[in-house]
Amino acid sequence: MEERRTLSLSQIQAYLGCPLKYRFQYLDKIPKPFRPSALAFGSSIHAAVEWFHKHRLIVGQRPDVAQVLKIFEADWFAQNLEPLVFSERESKDGLLEKAKAMLTVYIEGQDGREPVAVEQPFELELADPETGECLEVYLRGVIDLIEDGDILVDLKTAARTISEGDLGRHLQLSTYALAYFLLHGSIPQLRLDMLLKTTKPRLERHPTTRSVQDLGWTARLIERVVRAIEAEHFFPNPSWRCTECEYFTHCQRWRGYQAPREQELVSIEVSGEGVGDAVA
Ligand code: SF4
Repeated sequence: MEERRTLSLSQIQAYLGCPLKYRFQYLDKIPKPFRPSALAFGSSIHAAVEWFHKHRLIVGQRPDVAQVLKIFEADWFAQNLEPLVFSERESKDGLLEKAKAMLTVYIEGQDGREPVAVEQPFELELADPETGECLEVYLRGVIDLIEDGDILVDLKTAARTISEGDLGRHLQLSTYALAYFLLHGSIPQLRLDMLLKTTKPRLERHPTTRSVQDLGWTARLIERVVRAIEAEHFFPNPSWRCTECEYFTHCQRWRGYQAPREQELVSIEVSGEGVGDAVA
């Protein structure tokens, strides 16, 4: 019997970002020689915020900023054990200071808001919400935060705010809504919380929603991505992402898909090429 394959929302997003990078990461499993510092920083902020909400939910107490910062510091220390590539304007200690300011802003902005679930996983077979057709595509993901009143929240750290158009197209929120609709039969409220890494950090809340038609579009997009992966359509998608791509060197050697030989994997070192101006 053919094994059922469940893809994660992260994999869907990775494929849409660059199909060849998806192949390097998820199929060839080529070790990444470094990580952009912005990704590691975002993970540490996420870990601290997750702990903050879980503590409120499970223990019933609201931690103060100093406690949350300790979680960040521990995670940030661990993130820095692997090679990180910093942009010219950033450093390990500078980002630690930035995190203190950002997390203070975040925690002070949580008054009157109660979490009902934190890091809520979902796994389901996708169906088209407009027609009810089962798509034979299995998807899993994790919703960052659910607040009272069925508000599904995604948290992002970013250098700049988001436009209305991009909020309406935000795939992670669309997929949260799709999963919720298929599991509960109604469309939830959605919100993107953006913790901005600006000179003076600020927290922006962007409420939004989706129509059933939007969810149908999202379901079909995910289905098509899964079919493209199954058909092994892996090609480069050159974009701003290349400047921070961990597989830049592998990509330069690409001439139509060819599995990398083991000797190649061990001989490719961090060149820094294409990495210099990693994300702000
Ligand atoms: S360098 Fe750019 S095109 Fe090449 S794999 Fe990375 S993201 Fe894709």
